[in-house]
Amino acid sequence: MPTNVRISDISLYLRCPRLVYFETLGRMTRKSSAMQLLMRSLMLSLSQESDLESQLRETLHRLEEELPLVYEIEVAELGPACRELEDKMALIAQSLAGYIDYLVPFEPDVDLFSERLGLSGRLDRLAPGVTPSLIRSGRAPESGVWKRDRIAIAGYALLLGEMHKTRIDHGLVEYPNFGLIRKVQIHSVDRVRVLRIRDRIKQIKEGRLPERPNDAPCQRCLALEICETRQTLASRFF
Ligand code: SF4
Repeated sequence: MPTNVRISDISLYLRCPRLVYFETLGRMTRKSSAMQLLMRSLMLSLSQESDLESQLRETLHRLEEELPLVYEIEVAELGPACRELEDKMALIAQSLAGYIDYLVPFEPDVDLFSERLGLSGRLDRLAPGVTPSLIRSGRAPESGVWKRDRIAIAGYALLLGEMHKTRIDHGLVEYPNFGLIRKVQIHSVDRVRVLRIRDRIKQIKEGRLPERPNDAPCQRCLALEICETRQTLASRFF
């Protein structure tokens, strides 16, 4: 069966190609932080109700009770994340209110697959106008969106375009921690990048260990130990 590449693999590859290798080997698992889970769930609870702040506060209260029942999550991590969000909820709600028509009504967690493209993925939000939208809990860049998010949006646009037999030329990236929604123009060059990265990921999944990039974010990497061991072994052979 042909190797299928997930859009989340492409995001991981753009952080460091070796992470895809170690994840394929089962030496590393991805785990969402309490803040990531909260942000995602809060954003997917949005509706067109007028009092956005009360709606978000109510949802946050419910999530604090429910998330530990669903995910492996430390209460010691969840509590401080909830307090942090409570403190800035008024600002977040005020900023998001200006974007609500871009986001609702929507379809959450949309599973997409294309055998022809060799790609699949679960899109956070299918926003009005067949618009792919990603939710990111981290900080937003000063302008536009991070490269990793732009390429991921191009990947989802390819999948959605195939499914709806149309060309999707823009998407959204949500940075709720800053109350920001950024529009992304999808260029052909990014669609091509998605396909080339897909090809490299296929080779990695088939067993090829990629080079260690010079700018890899090794300091807080979960695979640091195994990665250094591989490096040492490789240098003994050459
Ligand atoms: S330790 Fe560095 S090179 Fe190795 S997988 Fe992690 S980020 Fe990549």
